[in-house]
Amino acid sequence: MTIDDAVILALGTGFTGAILWPGDDAYEDARKVHNGMIDRRPALIARCLGTADVVAAVNFARENELDVAVRGGGHNVAGNAVCDDGLMIDLSLMKGIHIDPDARTAQAQPGLTWAEFNRETQVHGLATTGGCSTTGIAGLTLGGGLGWLMGKYGMTGR
Ligand SMILES: Cc1cc2nc3c(=O)[nH]c(=O)nc-3n(C[C@H](O)[C@H](O)[C@H](O)COP(=O)(O)OP(=O)(O)OC[C@H]3O[C@@H](n4cnc5c(N)ncnc54)[C@H](O)[C@@H]3O)c2cc1C
Repeated sequence: MTIDDAVILALGTGFTGAILWPGDDAYEDARKVHNGMIDRRPALIARCLGTADVVAAVNFARENELDVAVRGGGHNVAGNAVCDDGLMIDLSLMKGIHIDPDARTAQAQPGLTWAEFNRETQVHGLATTGGCSTTGIAGLTLGGGLGWLMGKYGMTGR
């Protein structure tokens, strides 16, 4: 059994995303964040495709006592989306969104950027307070929330 197989087994055989290791080409891209001064090297990166993948990754980190970093859009200036040595849980591929035009609500996954979110809501003539088009909806909602519609509707995470 290769070390990849062992980790995938430990994460659960149903893990649908990708496990990236130092040395993989995709690993080098996935560990980059918006702030080019951040140069951290996680022990491995779990690129999740769904909630079950996230649950498996969190359990794996807990059982192996690994530090965890969570990546949404990767725009946090301090680079909190990526850690040295631990497990980086990369949510940037999770881009599902469901809009209920009658209720005027959106349920959106954490890998969406604001440009992607706005594109979908605008199909229905809807919008909410959001930030710069390249920022992630998750990190901005959790820790920012300033945008053009703020004066009318308040901050994103209100
Ligand atoms: C070019 C640029 C433009 C910006 N414009 C604006 C703006 O217009 N308005 C504004 O309010 N802010 C703005 N910001 C600040 C931005 O909102 C924050 O940096 C925000 O944290 C970015 O979120 P992210 O998902 O892209 O980043 P990430 O670095 O991926 O995540 C930010 C933090 O949230 C955590 N996190 C991400 N997703 C999750 C999750 N699903 N569950 C738990 N934790 C999670 C990460 O671990 C990290 O600590 C801007 C930043 C930049 C660099």
